[in-house]
Amino acid sequence: MMVPLQKVLEGARAGCYAIGSFNVYNSETIRGVIESGVDMNLPTIVAFGAGYIPNMRLKDAAALVRSQAADAPIDIALHLDHCKSLDIIREALDAGFTSVMYDGSALPFAENLANAAKVVSMAHAAGAGVEAELGGIAKGTHSNEEDGSEIYTSPDEAVELVRETGIDALAVSIGTVHGMYAGEPRVDVGRLKKIAAVVDIPLVLHGGSGTPEAIIRDCINNGIAKINVNTEISMHTVAKARAAIEANPKIHLSKLCLTEIEAIKEVVKKYMEFFRNR
Ligand SMILES: [Zn+2]
Repeated sequence: MMVPLQKVLEGARAGCYAIGSFNVYNSETIRGVIESGVDMNLPTIVAFGAGYIPNMRLKDAAALVRSQAADAPIDIALHLDHCKSLDIIREALDAGFTSVMYDGSALPFAENLANAAKVVSMAHAAGAGVEAELGGIAKGTHSNEEDGSEIYTSPDEAVELVRETGIDALAVSIGTVHGMYAGEPRVDVGRLKKIAAVVDIPLVLHGGSGTPEAIIRDCINNGIAKINVNTEISMHTVAKARAAIEANPKIHLSKLCLTEIEAIKEVVKKYMEFFRNR
C-alpha cells in the first residue's frame, strides 16, 4: 500500500538501517523497483525525479505506482525527487505522491528555509512527507542530474532548517556525488556525525551509486536512513540491454523490456540487501 515518507523511514535511523530510494521514469523501472521490494519484503521508496517529467507525466507515474502498490503487501512511498518548483510539487501532491523533495539548496539559506516551510504545510495537509536539502552535491560521471558544486552541509544551518520548517528528512552534502566518482571518493563522515548529533530526523544520502560499501555502512551507522540510487541502475540495465541486442539483433522490444526489468531488479535488490546493514 502507499504510505507517506515518514512511515517508510520509521525506525530506520534508530535501527541503523537505511531505505533505498530508487529512481524511476517508465513502466519498467516502476515495476522493477516495486517487485524488488515485494521479493525482499521491505518498505520501498519509488523516486520519480522532477527532471523526468519529459519521460512520464506525474499523474501517469502516480497511477501506475498506485495500482501496483494496491496489490503489494509492503509499504511504498512515491517520492518526487529533486524539485525546485512549488507548482510542480503541488501537482505531484494532487496526483497522489506521498513524499516530495524540495531542493532549494542553490538558494540563499533564508529563501531555502522559507520555501521548505511552504512545502511542508502543503505536503502535510495532503498527508505526504517532505525532504529538503542543505549544501550542494557535486556531479560525477554518468549522472543525469544538474551540475552542482560541492558545498558541505553546515550543522548549525541544519538545526535551524529542521526546527523552523518541520521537514521529515534532510539531505546532507558530505562529499558523495551524483553519478559515479571521477576519482577517489572523499566522504566526510565526521561532518555527518556532527549533523546527526544535533538533528534527530532521518538524514538522506544522495549519490549511493558507486560509493564504497564501507563508507555507506559508516553513514548508515551515523544517521543516514534514506539512500538514493539512480546511475548504477541505468548503467547496469543499459549494459544488459546492449548484450541482449548483441546476442539477438532481432529481439522484440517486448522481450527487451522484460530483460530490462530483470536487470533493474538485480541492482535494486543488491542495494536493498546491503542497506539492511546486517
Ligand atoms: Zn540527488
